[in-house]
Amino acid sequence: MNASMPPADYTPACVVWELTLACNLKCLHCGSTAGGRRATELSTAEALALCEDLKRTGCLGVALMGGEPLLRKDFFEIASKVRSLGMELSVITNGTIRSEEIFKNLKELKPRAVAVSLDAADPALHDRIRGVQGAFNKTSSFIDRCLGEGLPVSVITTVHKLNLKELAGLRDLLKGRGIAWQVQTAGGEGGRFSREFLLDREEFYSVGLFVEACRRQFTPEELPVIGAHDLGYHSLLLKNVSLYEKWEGCQAGKAVAGVRSDGGVLGCLAINDDKFVEGNVRERSFYEIWNDPGSFRYTRGFAPDQAGPNCAACEHVKTCGGGCNEMSLMKTGALHNDPYCFCRIEEKLLAEELKWPFNGLRSGLGAAPDGVFRRLGRIFSGRRDGAS
Ligand code: SF4
Ligand code: SF4
Repeated sequence: MNASMPPADYTPACVVWELTLACNLKCLHCGSTAGGRRATELSTAEALALCEDLKRTGCLGVALMGGEPLLRKDFFEIASKVRSLGMELSVITNGTIRSEEIFKNLKELKPRAVAVSLDAADPALHDRIRGVQGAFNKTSSFIDRCLGEGLPVSVITTVHKLNLKELAGLRDLLKGRGIAWQVQTAGGEGGRFSREFLLDREEFYSVGLFVEACRRQFTPEELPVIGAHDLGYHSLLLKNVSLYEKWEGCQAGKAVAGVRSDGGVLGCLAINDDKFVEGNVRERSFYEIWNDPGSFRYTRGFAPDQAGPNCAACEHVKTCGGGCNEMSLMKTGALHNDPYCFCRIEEKLLAEELKWPFNGLRSGLGAAPDGVFRRLGRIFSGRRDGAS
């Protein structure tokens, strides 16, 4: 494959780039077990070249994360390059590194989002989960300062058994402050996380119920809250809890990609497995990897007969592709076999345990209230001033 190859039929709308694996916290649930930097992280020159490469591939937006991305001394050089090339920028940080220069530079970058991790309303619990005492206070004050600077702040909460009960407290802490709140669930890939803390299917579903309840109680402007894009779908009872009205299947290698700090390219960084590295930008450009017809076959080449037993007979399988591949791998060891989609959970809970007529639920579902997804989309794109 060479650089003159025709582009694939796919556009990388968002590339999530782990700038470094270095981190000053020791979060229990960290899927990449961040702490020390990788021995072979991209140099500044390589990172800047990758920005050009992403632009050439048609990338619309880049999310810079870590580890803790602000620990990289060249962070603002790379972030400015992303912006100067006309790509959207999101910064995902633990919010514990701060200086006047950081806030000034963040403001100048006009990011789409400054996304800060907050896992509990109880400071002691947040600190326990994040592995460092005082993290809650630092992160809270970082959020306050960003809000004061007029930056579009998001809070990301990663839910597991230790903090499921914190959702209501976090809701009360965040509502009415112009903070976009994304709720996601922990995966089992990280080396510091005991799998006994993973949500079971009822708890997982309860997170969807919580998001739905918030959406019924508050307008998108009062509390803009979404579930992560892979948090349940095809529910027969709930509106889609993510930012989108409809679940279109796992977009790894179709609309999203991940880049590791050593240049490894995956469809999704949540799938933390070397088997899914499609190539390295040190050997082939991102453009070549993205446009290679052999890349990302597990999503681009999906056919319903590849679905696992949880999904094979499902009416949605063609477009759904068997759900979130990371969840599917984590729970079943196989792709296209997600046992935690809301439609399967409802089927099991309602039909098997409560003996409700599952098929009877298919009628009477209303459409999402007018404009809710559009309004949430505007807020989560950093436009909170009423401009559409
Ligand atoms: S059963 Fe599988 S294919 Fe059907 S909606 Fe759920 S995850 Fe998707
Ligand atoms: S594997 Fe899951 S988290 Fe990753 S892109 Fe696919 S749906 Fe999203």
